[in-house]
Amino acid sequence: MSSYHVEPIGDLIEHDATGQADCVCGPQTRPEKGDDGSVNWIVVHNSLDGRELHEGGR
Ligand SMILES: [Zn+2]
Repeated sequence: MSSYHVEPIGDLIEHDATGQADCVCGPQTRPEKGDDGSVNWIVVHNSLDGRELHEGGR
C-alpha cells in the first residue's frame, strides 16, 4: 500500500508529507482504488491561508 500527498504549492506552513496523516493542517485521507485492485491512500493537505474558503464561497 502506498500513499500520495497533495499539498498546496507555496503555502505559509511546512507540511508533513512523511507518510503519516498527522500534519498540522488536518489533511483528509481517502482511498483510491487502482486498476489492479490495490488501494492507494491520497492525503489531501489543506492550505492555511484560506484559499479553499475563498474559492468555494461563490
Ligand atoms: Zn499539511
